[in-house]
Order: sequence, then C-alpha cells, then structure tokens
Amino acid sequence: MLLAILLSALAMTLIVGVRYLIVSGAFAWATRVRHPGLYAGLDRQMRREVIWSLASAAIYGVPAGVIAWGWQHHGWTRIYTDVSAFPLWHLPLSVFLYLFAHDTWFYWTHRWMHRPRLFRIAHAVHHDSRPPTAWAAMSFHPIEALTGAVVIPSLIFVIPIHVAALGFVLGIMTVMGVTNHMGWEVFPRVMWRGPLGAWLITASHHQRHHEQYGCNYGLYFRFWDRLCGTDRGIGDFQKAHARAASRRAAPPPGGLAGR
Ligand SMILES: [Zn+2]
Ligand SMILES: [Zn+2]
Repeated sequence: MLLAILLSALAMTLIVGVRYLIVSGAFAWATRVRHPGLYAGLDRQMRREVIWSLASAAIYGVPAGVIAWGWQHHGWTRIYTDVSAFPLWHLPLSVFLYLFAHDTWFYWTHRWMHRPRLFRIAHAVHHDSRPPTAWAAMSFHPIEALTGAVVIPSLIFVIPIHVAALGFVLGIMTVMGVTNHMGWEVFPRVMWRGPLGAWLITASHHQRHHEQYGCNYGLYFRFWDRLCGTDRGIGDFQKAHARAASRRAAPPPGGLAGR
C-alpha cells in the first residue's frame, strides 16, 4: 500500500513537472518567434526559474498523488466521472467556483506574503525574476509553493466537480501561470482591454505587480484587487519590446554567435 501511494506521488510529480516543461517550453519558444531577444541576458535567471519550478512540481505533485490514490482506491474526494450525476449547468458553475475560490485564496495569501518579513522568507524568490519569463510560472519558494499546493486538493473534498472540468481548471491554471509571466500578451485585446479586461487578469495586469509590487495581487480575476483598492490597472510591454527590438537592430559586440 505504501509503495502504491509513493508511486502515485512520484507519478503526479512527474506529470506536473513535465507539464510545466512542455507548456513553459512552448511559450518560451513562441516568445523567441514573436519577440526575439526579449529574454536576452536572462539565461541565469531562467535556469533558476526552472530549478525552483521543478521543486514546486514535487510540492504540488506529492499531495495530489496521495489524493489521486485515495480517489482511485477509497472513493475519496467529490470528483465524479458520470456526467449525469449532476445537472449540466453544474459543469460551468463548478469551474467558476474553483477558479474564484483559488483566486480568493491566492489574493489574500499573496498579499500576506508581501509583508516585509514574510516577503524576504517566502516570496522574494518569485520576485527575483526581473522581468519574469515564461519559465517563472512555478518559480516559488517551497513555503509559497505549499500555500498554492493545498488549494485544489482541499476544494475537491468540498465542491463536486466532473473529472474533465477539473482537468479544464488545471489547464487554465497552467496556461495562465505561464502566460501571465512571459512578457507579452498572447490573448486577444478583448480579454485584457474593455469590459471583460476590467475583470480578467492576463500578462498586462500581472506584469504591473512585478514592476510595482504593492498592487495587482490577483490570480485570475481583478475582483479582489478592485474591491480592496489594490488594482493599479494594466501595464504595457512597450519599453521591454523596444529594448528587444533595438538589440536585434544592433547586435552586441561579438554578434549573434553563441546565442
Ligand atoms: Zn508578489
Ligand atoms: Zn508573478
């Protein structure tokens, strides 16, 4: 039994780690295509981001693996597989509830981690990325990773969710974690400008958090930031992109060899 639990924990860690490498790798590649030179000079930082992120993968993976084992063998959690077990409207509602609950937890723990003492211990690692890249998605100190790792495993004991809807929530979590840090907007303007953008968080919003610190703490929605007066609007990437463009126009001494 113990071996089965260990194997499940290991498998989940591998899944989370490989999923991170694939998704961050894909968006890092997209960055090289769309904005060549944007990550120039950040090689050491990106290596650090990958190492912290892989450590976080284990912190997320182990509890998830234990629970996955309990779900399979003892029917733990309220994850269901029969779509007709709940009315169809429960599918979108459960997705929204998970995202909103995660966002709420993230907002308050994140704000808490910006208190000076705790910031130095637990959150400075994440802000060491200046500016963050697509690899910074899970670049957290283990304490911060732990605060994130408890959310979904707790929710699945409380709010019933179809296994596919849970997969969708995890997909959104992964993609937003990566794209919010990659230094440009991959989403259409309607998602970050206008009425919808006033409530949704994408890269332009989170980038301002990394620039100015004491604002824009949210994860998916601007609800708590707006309610609590910590929303300072969205940033833009013009300066960073202009720098990357000028680097392309005038390659550094030694040219582009070795890049
Ligand atoms: Zn922060
Ligand atoms: Zn961040």
